[in-house]
Amino acid sequence: MSRIHRCDVPGCTRTRASWQRLCTPCFEALPREIRNRIIETRRLGRNPDWRAACKKAARYLAQIARPPRAPIRPRVTPQQAFANQQRLLGEQD
Ligand SMILES: [Zn+2]
Repeated sequence: MSRIHRCDVPGCTRTRASWQRLCTPCFEALPREIRNRIIETRRLGRNPDWRAACKKAARYLAQIARPPRAPIRPRVTPQQAFANQQRLLGEQD
């Protein structure tokens, strides 16, 4: 029997072993709390909870794949730059 088993994470197209729920990369990337939830809810037949856990896993993986952009540094106006320079050099008006 060689049925192909797909990883439980929505959007993941990799295969998994029949006795697993997740492919190896997803399993390793997910926090234990999320993957245990997928395994447990599936084992208990709690399908709505299982689907929610799978969605949570997909969201988590999307988030770590695309980390939020670094905050844009506040711009310094030319006047402020000049004032900073004066202060650094100890110059007085
Ligand atoms: Zn996967």
